[in-house]
Amino acid sequence: MSVQRVYRPALRPGTTMTELDREDFHYLKHVLRLKVGDTVILFDGVGNEYEAVIDDFGASRVRLEIREERPVDDPAPPVILAQALPKEGKMDFIVQKATELGVRTIIPFTSSRTIPRLTGEKAAARVKRWRKIAAEASKQCGNAIVPEVSEIRTFEAMIDEGARASLPLFFWEEEHHRGIRDIFSTPFRPDLSEISIVVGPEGGFSRDEATAARNRGFMTAHLGRRILRVETAALVILSIIQYEIGSIGTSPERNDVQ
Ligand code: SAH
Repeated sequence: MSVQRVYRPALRPGTTMTELDREDFHYLKHVLRLKVGDTVILFDGVGNEYEAVIDDFGASRVRLEIREERPVDDPAPPVILAQALPKEGKMDFIVQKATELGVRTIIPFTSSRTIPRLTGEKAAARVKRWRKIAAEASKQCGNAIVPEVSEIRTFEAMIDEGARASLPLFFWEEEHHRGIRDIFSTPFRPDLSEISIVVGPEGGFSRDEATAARNRGFMTAHLGRRILRVETAALVILSIIQYEIGSIGTSPERNDVQ
């Protein structure tokens, strides 16, 4: 049986929990039809899971007894995805898929060719929505850590932040020499302790932006002969990186979550 995972920040073993989201409640009661005595896995989004047992199940309330805490080991190095704001709706898809692909941080940013202009309340509402998507996707795919979605940054602020990674990569279709394959196949394997990747908007990056990124220590890289759409590029890069760092393709140690 698949064990339902419920996301709740700040949990403590030995306590009981009664407030559940309406959606989670519905799912436990009416979809999975769990009963008193059944187990639910709670996760706090910062690397811990807890086994909880249903000890009371009413018409609109459930009481869960939080038992054992199980820190989840995630030995994979953190990956940061900095994504230029794509056109309407696409960012929802990218946030969901990037979460499934194990990204640790998502930085949405504006650049000279981004089209959406999100400011003030509209920007705040969008970020909130992306955070919810990241939490939902983490619940579904078995992530112990919910990726952080930052506020929308300017290009410069994003570059400052991304450049701190041990391997900062800037994907630019006009880079004709270094491909993503070259980065991982040199005899000198790069320091993979933290990887940041930058993906542009539909109109790509300007030469000035690529130069600014290089000057801050980013390596520019291409993805081969074809120009990929924004969302394809992000997912292809993340898949390759997760494979290279061993978080896709190695056998899972966990068998309690489906
Ligand atoms: N400027 C392009 C499209 C940009 S594709 C045009 O209109 O022709 C959107 C983003 O995906 C790019 O900014 C880049 O970050 C990434 N991307 C897509 N294909 C790529 C490739 N072959 N090499 C490197 N980056 C690529």
